[in-house]
Amino acid sequence: MSTPKNKSAGPISKEQLEDLVAASLILAREGILDAFGHVSMRHPTDPSRYLLSRNLAPELVTAADIVEYDLDSEPVDPNAPRGFLERYIHGEIYKVRPDVNSVIHTHSPSVVPFGITKTVMQPVYHMSGFLGRGVPVYDIRKESGRMTDILIREPGHGRDLARVLADKPMALMRGHGNVVVAGDVKVATYRAVYTEMNARLQMQAILCGGPIEFLAPEEAFLTEATIEGQIHRPWDLWKAKVMGKR
Ligand code: MN
Repeated sequence: MSTPKNKSAGPISKEQLEDLVAASLILAREGILDAFGHVSMRHPTDPSRYLLSRNLAPELVTAADIVEYDLDSEPVDPNAPRGFLERYIHGEIYKVRPDVNSVIHTHSPSVVPFGITKTVMQPVYHMSGFLGRGVPVYDIRKESGRMTDILIREPGHGRDLARVLADKPMALMRGHGNVVVAGDVKVATYRAVYTEMNARLQMQAILCGGPIEFLAPEEAFLTEATIEGQIHRPWDLWKAKVMGKR
């Protein structure tokens, strides 16, 4: 079902909107996002639309700041407030990943070294088994064939990023950060948090010296299924913390 251009696909439930806002606050509190980075959600009733805040630091986002975009990353309301330069990350991934309903772009500090070296990020423990599906690295200079300011400020950069991400849950962005995707905003938030944790732990393991025993592919697969079945536990805690209930 698609909605005519410049017409909203309609409101989403209060709870869904609250979860989208909470994801920004959670990722800010957990140190994954600072003044930059963003979280989006595909529109629950129209897959050709997505929801993303206006150009604002994640910790300041409220329900009133959420803007509806089409998959070309144009706002549905021509009078919408200014959006993020890098919103094409979201639209271009939604176009090619029907399984994805939430996209997060971060400058998660500990992941950056893995985008600029030959060291491959791999799952070090059961919380990050999703990384066992592979961690591609997107290099804007290589993909675009020219010098840029590193930002995904054109649809073409977003298409390249989506192609490099392919069917994976996370891609590193060389000299920049990463993009994390999932079937819903809770799992995407979880993955963004534990990608940062895994990066930190893997660097600590490297400092310990010697070969590292990463999760085997089958262990990664099995742990991913178990943890994501428990998603309510971290989500309820993180949401309660940002909503001032704890
Ligand atoms: Mn960025």
